[in-house]
Amino acid sequence: MRVLMVAPPGAGKGTQATVIASHFDIPHIATGALLRDHVARDTDLGKAVREHLDRGELVPDAIVMTMVREAIVAAKAAGGGYVLDGVPRTMEQARAAYRIGLELNMTADVALHLQADDEELLRRLRARAVVERRSDDTEDVMRHRLRVYYEVTHPIIAWYRERGILVPIDAMRPAKDVARDIIDALEARRRTTGDAGAS
Ligand code: AMP
Repeated sequence: MRVLMVAPPGAGKGTQATVIASHFDIPHIATGALLRDHVARDTDLGKAVREHLDRGELVPDAIVMTMVREAIVAAKAAGGGYVLDGVPRTMEQARAAYRIGLELNMTADVALHLQADDEELLRRLRARAVVERRSDDTEDVMRHRLRVYYEVTHPIIAWYRERGILVPIDAMRPAKDVARDIIDALEARRRTTGDAGAS
């Protein structure tokens, strides 16, 4: 099973990607977590991206896609499945991910779109700010990340709809109900496509 997720900040991508990864026993590739790890370790890449993360700006496509390419090569060696969490975030990343997928015979089977309204997203981000203390969970940065999502990321959804792999999910409910819907939808898709990428 090869899945990518397009969702606004606070929709629960990370939580749901973890469920998908464990259900299908596939690698969970989370660009935000990989980038935060570089920042925490103060690597050269971390130094280059720290300000972008702190301001809620997107990291340049080339940096992200180099990381994603390596992760997809590793996922191929590990059995052929993956769940991409937090990427693609721009149309250029969507096209690049597709090119990488074609080249490695690893294109996504499903693009999950987690849907939630802005008030609910901001409520969840505020709750997370208290628990996780992420540097990008301040009120101004949260609102900015939401704007970036609508301007730059949301337009990708139409592209996946045209490709016939878009699966919309109502993410306004408790995480375990959302997870059940997602697993049901992915299992249904696996039955109809035969899922060459199952591990
Ligand atoms: P996330 O954990 O997915 O909410 O991502 C946290 C932050 O990491 C984002 O606000 C961006 O600064 C950066 N980031 C994560 N994924 C990407 C991506 N695919 N493209 C650009 N920036 C990203």
